[in-house]
Amino acid sequence: MTAAATPPSDDEPPAAARSSEPLPAESAASVAAAMLWQPWMERALELAERAGREGEVPIGALVVRRGELLGEGWNRSEALLDPCAHAELLALRRAAARSGNWRLTDATLVTTLEPCVMCFGALIEARIGLLVVGAGDSRRGAIDLWKAGHLSRYPVRPLALIEGVLEGRCQKLLKDWFAVRRATGGGKTEDSNGQNWP
Ligand SMILES: [Zn+2]
Repeated sequence: MTAAATPPSDDEPPAAARSSEPLPAESAASVAAAMLWQPWMERALELAERAGREGEVPIGALVVRRGELLGEGWNRSEALLDPCAHAELLALRRAAARSGNWRLTDATLVTTLEPCVMCFGALIEARIGLLVVGAGDSRRGAIDLWKAGHLSRYPVRPLALIEGVLEGRCQKLLKDWFAVRRATGGGKTEDSNGQNWP
């Protein structure tokens, strides 16, 4: 789990911070920051489950700002026959519509799976200030590209990142969904993301 640029919680410290082996302050703050986002990731997981029930790859996302839910999305590429209908993009569009402003300055995007390059570009364009991710995606995820500076010509605003929030559950949802699809000969088993899911 990694975290960056999020203020420490005023709430009860996480278990790790209360252990007899004191963590470095930065690590404790990172754990606390990640825990703060767990309730929103729980909601994103519900959206991902909805996608799965609808025959879509189970990924969910939402946009929140100062405690207010601005928009939700879940994968709908199959239903809409739209390669752009990813959970993150749909959440960003709804948040912009609700806000009456496509600039979602200081908002947070919470997503169950690391965004692809398309969605990462969109969240940067939308001026998202914090990206909170559940599971990583080593095949299609854009975060490594961004960390390596390959997306640094996109510099609208600084972006903070928290990774690994409810990571195990986010991974398991995808893994189980693809396992069922493969076992039942369902439609999208050729998806390389699913084939290689741990
Ligand atoms: Zn995407």
